[in-house]
Amino acid sequence: MRSVLVLNSGSSSLKYQLVDADSEEVLAEGGVQRIGESGATSSHSSGGRRTDGDGRPVADHAEALALVVSAFAEHGPHLDDVDLVAVGHRVVHGGDRSEPTVITDEVLAEIEDLQVLAPLHNRAAATGIRAARELRPDLPHVAVFDTAFFASLPAAASTYAIDAEVAARHRIRRYGFHGTSHAWVSARGAELVGRPLSELRQIVLHLGNGASASAVDGGRPVDTSMGLTPLEGLVMGTRSGDLDPAVVLTLARAGWSTEDLDALLNKRSGLLGLSGVNDFRALMERVDAGDEAARLALDVYVHRLVRYVGGYHALLGGAELLTFTAGVGENAPRLRAAVVQRLRPLGFVLDEEANGADRRDARTISTPDSPVTVAVVPTNEELAIARQALEAVG
Ligand code: ADP
Repeated sequence: MRSVLVLNSGSSSLKYQLVDADSEEVLAEGGVQRIGESGATSSHSSGGRRTDGDGRPVADHAEALALVVSAFAEHGPHLDDVDLVAVGHRVVHGGDRSEPTVITDEVLAEIEDLQVLAPLHNRAAATGIRAARELRPDLPHVAVFDTAFFASLPAAASTYAIDAEVAARHRIRRYGFHGTSHAWVSARGAELVGRPLSELRQIVLHLGNGASASAVDGGRPVDTSMGLTPLEGLVMGTRSGDLDPAVVLTLARAGWSTEDLDALLNKRSGLLGLSGVNDFRALMERVDAGDEAARLALDVYVHRLVRYVGGYHALLGGAELLTFTAGVGENAPRLRAAVVQRLRPLGFVLDEEANGADRRDARTISTPDSPVTVAVVPTNEELAIARQALEAVG
């Protein structure tokens, strides 16, 4: 057997999956949350059994990784028995890099350098990578960048209409994120409808805590909703998505600091800012209970989605497939219905029964004669990272 360990280091979390390189079976998975806080939560699942940690504080990513290694030793499978051949690291910002990259000291320095663009995300990834390399210097470590799929965005989509010289000096352009998921889901979507990826015009909606849309023509991105950072675009759990930039200027003139603005737009906006909850299930419960703020939050969320899908439909010269994925996209039939019903005049015809069916697999949810096919495809970023890490190490 050969296996790959996939690590996803967030600002205060470390998630992992151990994947069998040949069968692609998940051998174990888990995570440590609330790193650096007063008490951490952690869990490890393998062989159908889940064990939770004891809640003691975990100071940093190095300590979190030590906890993960001891969970493997205690609850299995033991890392010495699974022939680890690579560690795949999810890295949010890769700048212009479009390929998975074996991590050297120079690559790590570059990832840290991109902190200016993705302060929280890349700092966490770099800390996790450093800890993992120290622990297993014998293994190749591979960075898989969330921006990679969108490195080939056409200039018309990646360019902000600001002073070109200023933009170049500060590397300000639209990079796009969630690329691993958009690439995976667009490839699975083509398989599902039995069409070559190279001939299909499609729109992918990745709706999780973070949310993004992409337009993909023949397997290549034409546009995506996230930009310089993952803040642009759709309404998200705690992020605002699109705004008039003058909102920032207005608050800055009223005395808000850069840090306060960052926290407002990234952590206290979106569904949370409008309704008080960022979790989509909790939002729907409030909507059902007649909460008006929750209703407005949902309306704004759907309005933005319809606007993006309609725009991408035009950019593609008519999409042939619209796919929903991630936590909300895969599990919230009412949200899918709310979006697709608004798009009916454009040729998106929902099959209500298929949409409401309690299924977890990739499936179509439009009527057989719908001009545009609508589908749900589960994303699997960990498996995509494992495959790319394996490829990178040959
Ligand atoms: P992340 O971006 O953290 O990876 P996920 O893709 O796991 O996020 O999505 C999390 C979101 O999915 C949460 O808002 C959660 O409420 C929502 N979600 C999960 N299951 C359901 C469900 N059954 N119905 C509605 N929303 C759901």
